Amino acid sequence: MRAAVMHSPGSPLVIEERPRPRTGSGLMVEVLACGVCHTDLDLLGSELTRTPHVLGHEVVVAGPDGEPCLVYGSWGCRRCLHCRSGDEAMCPDVVIVGVHADGGYAEALVVPDESYLYPIGDLDPAEAAPLADAGATSYRAVRRAMPATRAVVIGVGGLGQFAIQWLRLVADCSVTAVDTAPDKLHRALELGADEACPPTAEMEPAPVVLDFVCTTESLQLARSLVERQGRIVLVGGGGGTIAVGMEAIPYETWVTNSIMGSRSDVTTVLEHAQRGNVDCHVEELPLDDADTALGRLREGGVTGRLVLKP
Ligand SMILES: [Zn+2]
Ligand SMILES: [Zn+2]
Repeated sequence: MRAAVMHSPGSPLVIEERPRPRTGSGLMVEVLACGVCHTDLDLLGSELTRTPHVLGHEVVVAGPDGEPCLVYGSWGCRRCLHCRSGDEAMCPDVVIVGVHADGGYAEALVVPDESYLYPIGDLDPAEAAPLADAGATSYRAVRRAMPATRAVVIGVGGLGQFAIQWLRLVADCSVTAVDTAPDKLHRALELGADEACPPTAEMEPAPVVLDFVCTTESLQLARSLVERQGRIVLVGGGGGTIAVGMEAIPYETWVTNSIMGSRSDVTTVLEHAQRGNVDCHVEELPLDDADTALGRLREGGVTGRLVLKP
């Protein structure tokens, strides 16, 4: 089978023929579509990933009956409290597809079993793929930040675009979107944001600030925009930090980070997508263009989600 393989940190992906993955204790499935996420860029540049490695954690596959299914990509121990409550993303021993195990930048992959496959019904596989992470991770962040009547979303990339929609759809929350790119600010308004502005603009503080960038600069902005007793939710992979201390954050502010969705988050985002409530704007590219896709994401000129198709 063909796969886009990462051989060493920072070097371009290599399209190559590989043996089909061994089924072993899992289930081998054909990949129909795989989203390209900013996390893939971070992984590509990191020393942590085992190599050779196949990226891709937003995957739609053909299930055993050929039915298109979204892969729930957090594979836990299935014994701990988190796993038993359906929140395998929180398992201390979690294996994430495309991060710890080979992912969807390939024609096939192995999932632990059928319980990790969520049928997508009539949804287009390419449009559904980003729901696995961009959709469900942002949904989890919004769910944990609510209730609130107003929120600031920093970063209108893949996750931020979904977050704006969840805030309007699920929480009926008014949204201020912040980004440096004018086309993303335009996109934020299309998706229902009440206002959209660059980080340098004068903004009203809000009870909730969701940071999908998480550089030191964006975190400083988040801290300056959150109200007393508000919530700052960190989701982005920017690697920045801010000090937390008695006088360092507004009084009684909660600061939390947030990761991939639970099984029920994935079910909920799929239901919304199937009802036509969600705008999943994607651009399809052939698997062979995986490296080009990552390059475009790195340059920042992508407004919708890039999705690879084998
Ligand atoms: Zn991701
Ligand atoms: Zn577990």
